[in-house]
Amino acid sequence: MNYHILTLFPQMVMDGLNTSIIGRASEKGLISIEAIDIRDYSEDKHRHVDDYPYGGGAGMVMQPMPICRAYEDLCSRLGRRPRVIYTTPQGKVFNQNIARELSGEEDLVFLCGHYEGVDERALELIATDYLSIGDYVLTGGELPAMVMIDCISRLVPGVLTNQESGEEESFHDNLLEYPQYTRPEEFQGKKVPAVLLSGHHQKIRQWRRQESIRRTLERRPDLLEKAVLDKKEKQYLDQLIREQKQQSEQNTDEGGFVSNEDYRCKG
Ligand code: SAM
Repeated sequence: MNYHILTLFPQMVMDGLNTSIIGRASEKGLISIEAIDIRDYSEDKHRHVDDYPYGGGAGMVMQPMPICRAYEDLCSRLGRRPRVIYTTPQGKVFNQNIARELSGEEDLVFLCGHYEGVDERALELIATDYLSIGDYVLTGGELPAMVMIDCISRLVPGVLTNQESGEEESFHDNLLEYPQYTRPEEFQGKKVPAVLLSGHHQKIRQWRRQESIRRTLERRPDLLEKAVLDKKEKQYLDQLIREQKQQSEQNTDEGGFVSNEDYRCKG
């Protein structure tokens, strides 16, 4: 997988992506990352790449010429026209399925906007995908590009070692991952669940599946609609839903019991 990042801040993306697992993957040649400085394609002697918006309004807009020239130069070097992801809060929200789909590409271009964004004509000419990392507005597209590159790269064969394997992670089968524990066996009076110390692989697998289902119901019930569950797991989920209902009825009867749930971010 070769990433090409069109940006005004090449140092920021290169510094952000050269450590840990992603840095190691680059060193091994499993992925390559190049930052293309859009300013290098400016025709202005001061390397300006932005201007005032037509029609007035706040902020500056990135001009189409340097962006399109940077992309065309890349295409001539590669001998093909790779997909261009414009990182934008107006895009489809990035998720694990999109990451999986993108991980099959040989080359991916990320166009990072800044200021008020990019002149629409550049987007019409070169953007193939519009992706957001969430419903909030950042100052630039560099962090979103880094987030997506990190996530996609983990799915490139060989990037994760067996020990880091992502097969049972959150969003696999549309479930969140089960709770994880490491040494010591007891910490501040809290013990590791006994089943995890039992050495009984079948029981451990079952416990983890059930905890995944429980956690998904508590934190992301919207995922459960598409979760892949067998008959026993569906029964387990039904039982949890009944318990949850009973608990909330009991809380109402007791008049305003405050749970951890009440302190979580509401958004
Ligand atoms: N004026 C734009 C709008 O209202 O849609 C927002 C521009 S934002 C200040 C500057 C750049 O940051 C955008 O062009 C985009 O590349 C990037 N950006 C900001 N928030 C983002 C998000 N949630 N996801 C992806 N990119 C984002």
